[in-house]
Amino acid sequence: MPGRTIFPLGSMSQPPCPDAKIDAELYLAALNHLPDAVIVVDAAGALLFTNTAAEALLPGGIAGLGGQGKSSAYQVLDCQHRPLAAADLPLGRVLGGQHVQAEELVLVISSPPCTRWVTVTGEPLSTVGGAAALLTLRDISGAKQHEDSLLKQAFHDLLTGLPNRYLLMDRLSYALARAQDHPQVSMALLLIDLDRFKAINDNLGHQAGDNLLVEVGTRLRSQLCPNTTLARLGGDEFAILLEDVASSSAAVDLAEQIHAAIAQPFFLNHQEVYLDASIGIALGPAAYESAGDWLRDADIALCQIKSNPDQAWHVFDSSLQVQQDLRLQTEIDLRQALICNELRLHYQPIVTLNNEEICGFEALVRWQHPTRGLLMPGEFIHIAEATGLIIPLGWWVLAEACRQMHLWTTEFPAMANFTVSVNMSSKQFSQPNLVERIQEILAETGFTANRLKIEITEGVLIDHSDSIIATLAQIKALGIKLLVDDFGTGYSSLSYLHRFPFDCLKIDRSFIENADQDFEKLEILQSVVRLAWNLGLDVVAEGVETSRHHAQLKALRCELGQGFLFSRPLSPAAIEAMMAKKNASSLDPTAEPPSA
Ligand code: C2E
Ligand code: MG
Ligand code: MG
Repeated sequence: MPGRTIFPLGSMSQPPCPDAKIDAELYLAALNHLPDAVIVVDAAGALLFTNTAAEALLPGGIAGLGGQGKSSAYQVLDCQHRPLAAADLPLGRVLGGQHVQAEELVLVISSPPCTRWVTVTGEPLSTVGGAAALLTLRDISGAKQHEDSLLKQAFHDLLTGLPNRYLLMDRLSYALARAQDHPQVSMALLLIDLDRFKAINDNLGHQAGDNLLVEVGTRLRSQLCPNTTLARLGGDEFAILLEDVASSSAAVDLAEQIHAAIAQPFFLNHQEVYLDASIGIALGPAAYESAGDWLRDADIALCQIKSNPDQAWHVFDSSLQVQQDLRLQTEIDLRQALICNELRLHYQPIVTLNNEEICGFEALVRWQHPTRGLLMPGEFIHIAEATGLIIPLGWWVLAEACRQMHLWTTEFPAMANFTVSVNMSSKQFSQPNLVERIQEILAETGFTANRLKIEITEGVLIDHSDSIIATLAQIKALGIKLLVDDFGTGYSSLSYLHRFPFDCLKIDRSFIENADQDFEKLEILQSVVRLAWNLGLDVVAEGVETSRHHAQLKALRCELGQGFLFSRPLSPAAIEAMMAKKNASSLDPTAEPPSA
């Protein structure tokens, strides 16, 4: 550093020593051993002394600190990384008589490029030898880095490196505070939940699950502007805070982009894996007083999608809060319903399409609610699923269907060969004693196993892919028939079917509905029926509503059908009345009002 001078240090605090030269060397050596940079300047800001640490820290000399001349070797920023105005540079202030007390500053050094954090302390010197100011700089970069990494850990998700829930809440609070000054800004909070992540995690292992989450984070980031907050809240839940959105449709556009990006295949353990994203949107910030409320509403919007799987996103509106309250109430009431015997089974006939004769029923649960009347499964099954109540509910349905069918067999000989199909939820397949419990129910009710059909959706196969084949085989070994419900709406393809011991496919009604107008749907329907035949599976067509559907299915040689054309689901009393007439062809298609 230019202008290095040996300052007669001894004179600063005590009378000069007899051997001043030796002392000066000693003091100089001591100062040069100090880790802190020490700088002494005269009243004009010219350098009188610097130690070795100062030379190492300030490659371009002291000018950048507000001394004489100019320095382009480094720039001084405040602790918020804003450039300091000339009048605020520490050396100039000390020369002006101010004391600078351990002030944190940042030095941005140009060559080699690096950033150093320092604390600066400065004292005006009114004493000896022409010295006017003493400045010490302590390099705290190491401590700052440590502090930064602690902060990062506290506020970031370790796996993806994204902000975590705390940081998101902080940003939401900041956004709300900003909105008080700028009430016209619109913002949106998007909450993203990955469907089926748990199944993939369980089946492919946690390492693959972790890789998947990192990849999801990258895909989400790629859809966003660099400054948009993207956080991982834990598990498979991510959040995006959009500040300054032009309108709610901008948030919806982004939700659709995200949905499409997540729907692209992921490659894990050398296989393609598919995910689906549900996105709850809460527009803000005007309506909110707290970050927690804002997040809650995005979550309510997300729950709304869970009960309507065809939807990819949902925007919160305040009526959803009312629905949420209803949902909570329904959950409480449902617990009561199981105890107070409020559940009912209705039976929808399944007919042989050739002659329209009944060959069996599907048992469909209803809830005789004490104040809300007869509730359809669409109003409570998803709540039962989410709360685990589906397990006692499912066992009740199986036992009741078997009990009722056995009773009818004794009362109506014409029903001796009728089958009954019972829906089983994926959650029930998590039960360790599933097969034993089914066996017990058959034994208790006296119903024959080979007249019982269990309907499962493709989701069950995905959720339990490891254990499911063995469980299905055990059920089948009891003589029970296995049926894939809502076929065609899941994620899997026909080609996997031969791996599972199914007896029957039930084609989802969306295929039947449009097959008479949509040529593509008709072609799919045709190939499903053909393939089922090749695999030796029966086919039931669900949702047969018109005689056109009926004719088309017959032409495709589909054997069995179920739908409003033949009959709506009927109460046990209606079935008994019908059987009493012993005339299966005189079905009354209007016995149950259309389901909501
Ligand atoms: P699912 O198993 O696919 O049952 C068929 C549904 O389609 C029934 O609705 C039935 O009323 C309706 N459906 C039948 N034919 C037609 C038609 O021609 N047109 C139209 N538009 N709909 C028709 P429901 O009774 O409302 O049941 C809905 C779903 O609730 C069932 O779909 C099933 O997934 C679930 N569910 C019903 N009972 C149970 C149960 O005991 N346990 C479980 N886990 N789920 C059940
Ligand atoms: Mg079903
Ligand atoms: Mg179905």
